[in-house]
Amino acid sequence: MYNAQSPQQYIGNPAYQPNPAYPPAPGFVPTPGYAPPAVIAPAPTPAPAPMPSININVNQNQDHETGNATKPAPTGVVTNQPIVVAPPMVFKGTPVQMTCPSCKRDIMTQPVYKAGGMTWLICGILGIFGFWLCCWIPFVVDSCKDATHYCPQCRTIVGSYKPL
Ligand SMILES: [Zn+2]
Repeated sequence: MYNAQSPQQYIGNPAYQPNPAYPPAPGFVPTPGYAPPAVIAPAPTPAPAPMPSININVNQNQDHETGNATKPAPTGVVTNQPIVVAPPMVFKGTPVQMTCPSCKRDIMTQPVYKAGGMTWLICGILGIFGFWLCCWIPFVVDSCKDATHYCPQCRTIVGSYKPL
């Protein structure tokens, strides 16, 4: 009955439980392999994720450009405010179409040319290299002069251009 089964059939079977209603036989000696082996596996501990390295080259470049002392960038404070930068009006020696800040009308500026630093520089370079007879040329070429842009409607100075 109880001993009819071979011990090898339930060795390692965790579902097998000995029936307490049947006391073990007097000569029954439980083999060491009778009990289901308790396998205690250590719970695998997840390795902590490595911290991502923060690239601070941008701050370093800014420090190099501005020449300021290196200060640690504030971490943890993220400012996500949009920066609105109005493009500056670029004046050249030619008329520029723009809105007059005085009379608020769309105008084409009227540049008025005047001899400036670039005019005298070119004149001096021509004189140094022996072109004495050509020293008057920069004074008649508008691209070598400073330009002051006027509004043709209200005669307001809206900008200036200095090539030097
Ligand atoms: Zn105007």
